[in-house]
Amino acid sequence: MSNRIVWFKKNLRYKDNETLIDQDKKSILIYIIEPELWKQKDMSLRQWQFTLDSLKDLQHQLTKNNLHLNILYGDALEIFKFLKDKYNFDSVISEQETGIKWTFERDKKLKSFFLQNDIHWIECAYPGVRRGHHDRNQWAKFFRKDILRYPNLPIIKQSINLGLKNYDLPKIFYDTTPCPNRQKGGSREAEKLLSTFLNSRGENYQYEMSSPISAEKSCSRLSTHLTYGTISHRSVFQEATQKKEKIQLTNKNFAKSINSFLSRLHWRSHFIQKLEDQPSIEHESFIPVYDQIREKDFRKLDAWIEGKTGVHFIDACMIYLRNHGWINFRMRAMLASFASYNLWLDWRYFGPRLAALFTDFEPGIHYSQLQMQSGTTGINTIRMYNPYKQALDQDPEAKFIKSQLPEYNNFPPSFFFKPPELSNNENLFNDSKLETIVDVTKTAKFARDKIFSIRKLPEHQKMAKNVFIRHGSRQNR
Ligand SMILES: Cc1cc2nc3c(=O)[nH]c(=O)nc-3n(C[C@H](O)[C@H](O)[C@H](O)COP(=O)(O)OP(=O)(O)OC[C@H]3O[C@@H](n4cnc5c(N)ncnc54)[C@H](O)[C@@H]3O)c2cc1C
Repeated sequence: MSNRIVWFKKNLRYKDNETLIDQDKKSILIYIIEPELWKQKDMSLRQWQFTLDSLKDLQHQLTKNNLHLNILYGDALEIFKFLKDKYNFDSVISEQETGIKWTFERDKKLKSFFLQNDIHWIECAYPGVRRGHHDRNQWAKFFRKDILRYPNLPIIKQSINLGLKNYDLPKIFYDTTPCPNRQKGGSREAEKLLSTFLNSRGENYQYEMSSPISAEKSCSRLSTHLTYGTISHRSVFQEATQKKEKIQLTNKNFAKSINSFLSRLHWRSHFIQKLEDQPSIEHESFIPVYDQIREKDFRKLDAWIEGKTGVHFIDACMIYLRNHGWINFRMRAMLASFASYNLWLDWRYFGPRLAALFTDFEPGIHYSQLQMQSGTTGINTIRMYNPYKQALDQDPEAKFIKSQLPEYNNFPPSFFFKPPELSNNENLFNDSKLETIVDVTKTAKFARDKIFSIRKLPEHQKMAKNVFIRHGSRQNR
């Protein structure tokens, strides 16, 4: 009898994992550490460390259930060739991956090897993400169908231990920025986060998600777990739905917060679907003309990524992100807006650097969001965040700024809410540790004029219509 390979990719969990469906075959469970993947520009040491925590936790969960995870190191194609020679197998089951170009190309090579060798590759669809031709108008319907289904599958009971003792670890990463407050990986951590969020932390989520001070506690913090699949998107959605129904009449505020959370889980698949439908959006603007207008200035990029722009709220957010591997949505949008409008940098230039700092880097969300925040999709409202106004709105006592930039502890909060040219604290700017690298008001005006002059062009409007037909949200959840 032939064997079957169960290939864990970004679905590092035992519970609610369709790839573990029982079949009339012996299964070999594998995870492949691919050193070339970890060298990609948007990948980083912090993401690998989270993956390693999660692999160890997965091994533990599988062992408890009498299953064995074989961890291999190397090029995936070479590994499948080796497994084919040594342990005859005729099928591979894995989760369908919507990833960066590198994983897309790797999967194409594997597909052709499997075809040549009569190996059936079953790819379990990510909830709400359709591969191949589909009707975008029907997307919300099939998202609901996928996400509300509970497969309740018979899980495999036995697996083959290949007897591999050790595995190498990737050594080269594009980004090795230390991350002392990184989240821990593994399903147990994910389940704890979900439970505390649905039982207490999330009560004021709808009001507290935008400030970096309250967001750390009030957001679910599940993104990295969803990216690496230590918890299933479907079970998070279902548990949250049940909780909302239970408290709908007794705690309306909490129920509303859960509703906002459910919308975001819906957006997650909506964004991944965009990359699935058009992989080029990782490298090309939705509207190509925008690829010609911005700069690649390494001095500005370095100042931004190191938190040394002299715009204090921007720097505080960047330093927090570097040390935590996470920051909330509003601050991510502001960081991206500052880079693309005020620093006038090309999103393709700064985007991978930002991705590497996110432990939760999810290509479908990341590259679509970068394009939205840079105004290159043609279909979204242009949002330029004023970092001084954001500081006033989200950090009115400058507590967050000072927690990240303690050298400013003696400065009054008002110092952080206006640019040097409009400030009443001029003398303090002379004491400031860093000179502001751009004039935020002038650069925002320049960017606005430029972007709106392009948006008015008839060709732009035609292209934007096509982008909407292909990717636009249909608002009928
Ligand atoms: C420029 C930019 C880049 C981003 N890159 C990523 C990324 O690489 N990976 C990533 O997971 N998120 C990304 N986001 C979206 C969002 O900021 C994070 O999902 C969120 O901050 C994660 O924290 P949380 O899990 O506590 O989210 P919660 O607010 O608790 O939301 C729950 C889940 O919903 C999903 N979600 C939340 N907001 C969005 C959104 N706007 N679009 C799509 N899905 C959403 C995430 O899976 C998140 O875990 C990006 C946003 C911006 C503006």
